Amino acid sequence: MPGSKQPVAAIIGWPVSHSLSPRLHNYWLSEYGLPGEYERMPVEPAHLAQAIKELPGTGMRGVNLTIPHKEAVIPLLDEVDAVAKSIGAVNTIIIDRGRMRGTNTDAYGFLANIRPHLPASRKKAVVLGAGGAAKAVCHALLEAGFTEIQVTNRTFARAQELAAAFGKKLSAKEWDTRANLLEGADLLVNTTSLGMAGKEPLELALDALPRHALVTDIVYVPLVTPLLTQAEKRGNPIVDGLGMLLHQAVPAFEAWFGIRPEVTPQLRRHILEGRA
Ligand code: NAP
Repeated sequence: MPGSKQPVAAIIGWPVSHSLSPRLHNYWLSEYGLPGEYERMPVEPAHLAQAIKELPGTGMRGVNLTIPHKEAVIPLLDEVDAVAKSIGAVNTIIIDRGRMRGTNTDAYGFLANIRPHLPASRKKAVVLGAGGAAKAVCHALLEAGFTEIQVTNRTFARAQELAAAFGKKLSAKEWDTRANLLEGADLLVNTTSLGMAGKEPLELALDALPRHALVTDIVYVPLVTPLLTQAEKRGNPIVDGLGMLLHQAVPAFEAWFGIRPEVTPQLRRHILEGRA
């Protein structure tokens, strides 16, 4: 029965009812025979500081943060690691002897999801979007060794800001030029909400994209977005965005409970069933 077990971790957001994180972490808690439950904690922005202050007294090992708290939580923590500082957002807090350390596992999750499918040539990447998730994606692409990362966004100033924050290998491009940017690209990633169920479609002609280029979408509702369908049809390798969600949870679970959990086909099925 939900709520009858001791909470050992949670997701804090506003709203938080849509989150798949409880289903994911509770699967692993049960799989590894660990006691307790991963809960949802709806916390409105005005109450975030108080909720964070009270966390060490709850006995929980840590929490995840989702919209709209990932940036606002930073000044409330005892420590923020280098990855979270680089991305400018915290999605995981680890509570250790009363101290709260913030980290960000989104870049890890993105890279772990695409790593087995990356092309041998990793020079140019095109990133659509410059929102919160795009920062984690750019951090990951630099780590993967991409040397030219072009960021294009409807609001150009946001693309410029992101490119400036990450250094010389990144450049900001006008949204209208997006189809031309694909020439010579080894990777294309959509980090906008376009193509998501209920949102506007992503309009992008892929003609200039080399056939070897990996195409990935971090939107995972639908699992195979129209962008991925379009790319697969012309012979490009594709990776869907669900794996990013699953993999970003791995380092958090490990930091909290000392077991590195596995992302398996069974877990994927379990999460997809929960989404339906
Ligand atoms: P965000 O910060 O709100 O950014 C949204 C992005 O979409 C911005 O670049 C925005 O451009 C662009 N956009 C929205 N509507 C647009 C339109 N009509 N035309 C052109 N561009 C448009 O959101 P986020 O947190 O980065 O998340 C983005 C998507 O990634 C969401 O669908 C989210 O569910 C998904 N996501 C998936 C994972 C995963 O684990 N797979 C993780 C995080 C996020 P402007 O700057 O011009 O507004």
